Amino acid sequence: MKPEELYERHRAVLPDWISLYYEKPIELVRGEGYRVWDSEGNEYLDFFGGIVTTISGHAVPEIVEAVKEQAQKIFHSSTLYLIESQVRLAEKLISLSPISGEQKVFFVGSGSEANEAALLFATTYRSSSEVIALRGSYHGGSFGTMGITGQGSWRPTPRTALDVSYAMPPHRSYSPLYGRHDDPEELARACAEDVRSLIETSTTGRVAAFIAEPIQGVGGFVELPPAYLSRVKEILDEYGVLFVSDEVQTAFGRTGSHFWGIEQSGVEPDLITMAKGLGNGLAIGAVMGRAGVIDSLSPKQHISTFGGNPISTAGALANLEYILKNDLQKNADEVGGYLKERLVALAGEHRCVGEVRGRGLMLAIEIVGPGGEPDGAAAARFLEACRERGVLVGKGGLRGNAIRIAPPLTITREAARRAAEVFDEALAEVESKEKVG
Ligand code: PMP
Repeated sequence: MKPEELYERHRAVLPDWISLYYEKPIELVRGEGYRVWDSEGNEYLDFFGGIVTTISGHAVPEIVEAVKEQAQKIFHSSTLYLIESQVRLAEKLISLSPISGEQKVFFVGSGSEANEAALLFATTYRSSSEVIALRGSYHGGSFGTMGITGQGSWRPTPRTALDVSYAMPPHRSYSPLYGRHDDPEELARACAEDVRSLIETSTTGRVAAFIAEPIQGVGGFVELPPAYLSRVKEILDEYGVLFVSDEVQTAFGRTGSHFWGIEQSGVEPDLITMAKGLGNGLAIGAVMGRAGVIDSLSPKQHISTFGGNPISTAGALANLEYILKNDLQKNADEVGGYLKERLVALAGEHRCVGEVRGRGLMLAIEIVGPGGEPDGAAAARFLEACRERGVLVGKGGLRGNAIRIAPPLTITREAARRAAEVFDEALAEVESKEKVG
């Protein structure tokens, strides 16, 4: 079907508020590794991986085979029965966990559900409904997770089941303290100290959990500095507040330096939530962490029908094995390091680049206007210019002006070089249109 016709039919039956990329939306019908093809036969480098999800690449034979083999046996049985691949996946994740001591894993179907479950466990364990989240965060689209999402544009309702206070991460996008501290370490310390003030002034003092993404994803790939996270952890420990690391985007080696995003800071969280890359596109999410916290619910108080189903867990296991066997984390570090160097060089040549940030293969270019102000419209033009030249990237940030680059961790240096060339041309196009317009 032609994309124009599909778009018309899509608009007739799907919600108006679903946002589609590009003036003329495309349908991706086939993928292989880090390349994808649309329904008209155009080939692209997939540098967004279906929102930071396709971590091992498309149509990886080992993963396809695992899913096929399981699909031929049984699709579904539910958590009322034993599922071998679920147990094996939990064992594998715990063996890779940065958390010490006895641990458990609870499987669900998405990142939102993983965070919902983490909130449920933390609030039950601590007998408290109070949570601290960060400005600029994104934790999901359910009522509980919208309530801990620090971006108004992702909060269609103020309703939430929790009592939430928002702390500020030490970044100019989300902290009014930015500009008052020249030294980034100073800013990190000041923002961390504000968490103590927040606990003492905005809560009862008995807070269940602090939740953070080590690199804020939808917020525009904003890194939380190790100095910030480690100081916050010390303060939380004084009050017995649990630390939840939302690793829906940062897990499984994406950040290059470590397998889990939080590890860079040396902080040991109590719970980790994950989804996206766990299934390389299969619908699966999980909460992993301290057994005492996850086991704080009473028997038969909770269930997820699809959580840990045979197909998703068989696929996720094959995916994890693929990531480890091929050391994709190392590739993310090497190719990501090279790509970041190229992006930093482009920032020196193009005025419209406000900042380059991120680690491994989770990199962002912030697009700004002539006065350095966030320019979401220019970012949309950049996205379009990249598509025309055969590269798919994403967008994010409170003002929609952060270009998000998150390809499968299998990309080669050559693919990164080609993409960087396209980014160079696209930035030039954005600037030339600015001059004309
Ligand atoms: N947490 C983070 C950090 C995310 O980026 C997302 C999705 N963008 C979610 C949670 C929610 O995941 P899902 O869309 O699978 O519910």
